[in-house]
Amino acid sequence: MNIPKSNYPRIVIIGGGFAGISLAKKLSGKEVQVVLLDKHNYHNFQPLLYQVSTGGLEPDSIAYPIRKVLKDFPNFYFRLANVTQIVSDKKMLVTDIGDLNYDYLVLATGSETNFFGNADMEKNSMAMKTIPQSLDLRSLILENFEQALLTDEMHERDALMNFVIVGGGPTGVELAGALAEIKKGILPKDYPDLDTRRVQINLVQASDRVLKEMSEQASRKSEDFLEKLGVQIWKDTRVTGYDGKTVTTMTDGLTFETATLIWAAGVKGALINGLDAKDIVVRGNRLKVNQFNQVEGHPEIFAVGDVASIVTEENPCGHPMMAQPAIQQGRNLGDNLVRLINGKPLKPFVYKDKGSMATIGRNKAVVDLPNFRFQGVFAWFVWMFVHLFFLIGFRNRMVVFINWVYNYVRFDREARLIIRPYKKDYSAFKD
Ligand SMILES: Cc1cc2nc3c(=O)[nH]c(=O)nc-3n(C[C@H](O)[C@H](O)[C@H](O)COP(=O)(O)OP(=O)(O)OC[C@H]3O[C@@H](n4cnc5c(N)ncnc54)[C@H](O)[C@@H]3O)c2cc1C
Repeated sequence: MNIPKSNYPRIVIIGGGFAGISLAKKLSGKEVQVVLLDKHNYHNFQPLLYQVSTGGLEPDSIAYPIRKVLKDFPNFYFRLANVTQIVSDKKMLVTDIGDLNYDYLVLATGSETNFFGNADMEKNSMAMKTIPQSLDLRSLILENFEQALLTDEMHERDALMNFVIVGGGPTGVELAGALAEIKKGILPKDYPDLDTRRVQINLVQASDRVLKEMSEQASRKSEDFLEKLGVQIWKDTRVTGYDGKTVTTMTDGLTFETATLIWAAGVKGALINGLDAKDIVVRGNRLKVNQFNQVEGHPEIFAVGDVASIVTEENPCGHPMMAQPAIQQGRNLGDNLVRLINGKPLKPFVYKDKGSMATIGRNKAVVDLPNFRFQGVFAWFVWMFVHLFFLIGFRNRMVVFINWVYNYVRFDREARLIIRPYKKDYSAFKD
């Protein structure tokens, strides 16, 4: 790979997500050469992907060029590259644009959708982890309604207008709420010749409450909000399969006919070959790291964010796979790498839990702060401003803010466009 030689130690970061970017920012101006590799040339603000899928925001407003984030940093190089192998004994990476040596390596590769080995689910369901996947989902949702107009067969129409979301975490809850608002406010106007009252939104959750990671109060209130919006919640229900037409569950006699199953039921660490030995990979397919984010047995390799797990007695499953732990780990490691190079002792990572939140729809959100919980309109404003604050780029913040004000005032979501059609095979629904 064509990177100039330097007298400074070379730190290679794989991944320009929350963790990789916050680490690179910390290393700016330090006596190191930083090479950031990512298979995309943009940072993706995943918490707002569901708004792209449901036509509330254009994809450009939640993506930001990595080169622009780091444009003024000295000794910094970005390469658009997919890293396929780590050869740790040679301190070398294999990528689709050539090999690269490192002095220190940081994995900030995030996570990928976990289908728990269910191949049918992986093939037939829709995931929402990347911008292209969100655009596919947006197209499919709209194509289903176009398709529903082509048939008089009620059973077929119902299946096309039935949305099944598996996973009652923040992604599933936010998506279900957004679809319910579209059903109420937009579909009757866009499709006057369809009986859109028959649209169903089913949220299926394996455990006994949605938003399981939040307080019981937040769960209860979100279920209440969702039910008022017309979402059908199926708790203690485990989905077993989906062949592209019928969803099967472990509950006797419970199946769903649907053209759209959205899988929001789990993620796993995105590992790279060469650093995936069984003894360093723990629960959630994450790399076991010590309190300095150092991978066991590899003093020059570190992992931060979703792909890393600092297992302690207090945190037997590691920190939650969320933006804040990723940002905070990236910052702490930035300081530690400089300390390591200067022969100073490292600082252990201490997570500052700033709370969690989810929105269900217009004026409806739940917020759990460490010492205080609230729900409703105020929570919704807090949710909006926190998300605007963490978006990267002034333009993106402005565009998202203007879109939200417009959508709020007009009860609208204008990005309901099929720009890149999703080719669903509808033949099974014709029987
Ligand atoms: C739909 C959705 C909603 C979410 N909502 C919230 C929320 O409301 N609040 C919250 O706190 N968290 C939320 N999260 C979780 C949050 O987005 C993640 O925890 C966070 O992005 C993790 O940051 P990261 O830097 O570890 O990984 P990421 O941000 O995922 O970044 C990883 C980067 O690595 C790159 N990469 C991966 N493998 C390779 C490779 N082999 N070669 C080159 N590049 C590679 C990827 O292209 C990507 O840019 C949500 C996630 C999703 C999917």
